[in-house]
Amino acid sequence: MVKYAPATLDTIRQRVSLEQAAEYLHLSPLRGRYFCPFCQPTGKADHHTPDMGISNGKGFHCFKCGKSGSDVFALVQAVQGGTFPDAVRYVASLAGVQLKEEQLAVKPPRISPPAPKDCPPPTSPIARPELLGTLHGLSEAMEGSPGEEYLQRRGFSLSVVGTCGLGYASPTACRAIGLDKGQPPPLGRVIFPHFAPMPDGGTDIISLYGRAIDTPSNPTPKELRHRHLPGPKGFFRAASVRAIGWPEPLVVCEGPFDALAVLAAGWPRVLATYGVGVSRLDWLTPARSILIAFDADTVGQAKAKELAAALRHRGVSVSILTPDEIEGKDVAESFALGQLNPAIFQAVQL
Ligand SMILES: [Zn+2]
Repeated sequence: MVKYAPATLDTIRQRVSLEQAAEYLHLSPLRGRYFCPFCQPTGKADHHTPDMGISNGKGFHCFKCGKSGSDVFALVQAVQGGTFPDAVRYVASLAGVQLKEEQLAVKPPRISPPAPKDCPPPTSPIARPELLGTLHGLSEAMEGSPGEEYLQRRGFSLSVVGTCGLGYASPTACRAIGLDKGQPPPLGRVIFPHFAPMPDGGTDIISLYGRAIDTPSNPTPKELRHRHLPGPKGFFRAASVRAIGWPEPLVVCEGPFDALAVLAAGWPRVLATYGVGVSRLDWLTPARSILIAFDADTVGQAKAKELAAALRHRGVSVSILTPDEIEGKDVAESFALGQLNPAIFQAVQL
């Protein structure tokens, strides 16, 4: 049986809050609560109000189905399934804590000094260079695939797609790379890389995201639409923040298709955070001026304001693209409608 030293478990708990774990597990928050992954898996598509409370001091509890637990390991185990050691290994990787030598738990565990309680140190996610090989193979499968057709339907040419290293994964490939454990979508997925800044100043691939390929007349059910590999999220086009000193703002989008739209419209200084809950402000702050281009809906706008306040607090000039400036629900839709003019990024008052 695998045992862990209690001090190690405490260190991991201190470094990864329940809220951060919820973000890594892709749970959707709304007004301070979360859609319960057990009784509200389709989120706001089918449910008006989220019923799960998650709070670092108190654990998690769903007021609808009663699912509850006391700490970050319980949450991960409940959401991902698997054993307690599986959950510990997962959270330890997020926390940057090496478990290997500690599994015997005989000698005192070698742990890094604990962080101040309210301010866990940002840890670098683990680079997964083998995913570049996977992505390369999937990029070669793009031409002539349902993925290319899908991207063209949304207005993206292969020349733009090629610069971002997007790939096409067939249903079989979706399962082989671990994006789909159940039935993959029948036309497969378009694959985007997650990159993260590394301490050496470079950026490395850490995960993959797959968007189900569908048609307007036959949309993929929401719960099947988006898949990320397990583990921490990075940014799409994370290297964009490294172009420090440009007078123009870095455009920060929530979805990778939005970033692709901004790029295709002629604005290369853009990235996507893969969601509105941005836990890694330190990855954005090398940019000194930022334009947040989140979705036009109330959640997108509220989260944009939160992010703007946090970035301004760190000395970044921030502006938010308002619903009036976005034609449609997001910038990807503006682009598809032929309404995305890169001048709006230039003209923005910072
Ligand atoms: Zn529930």
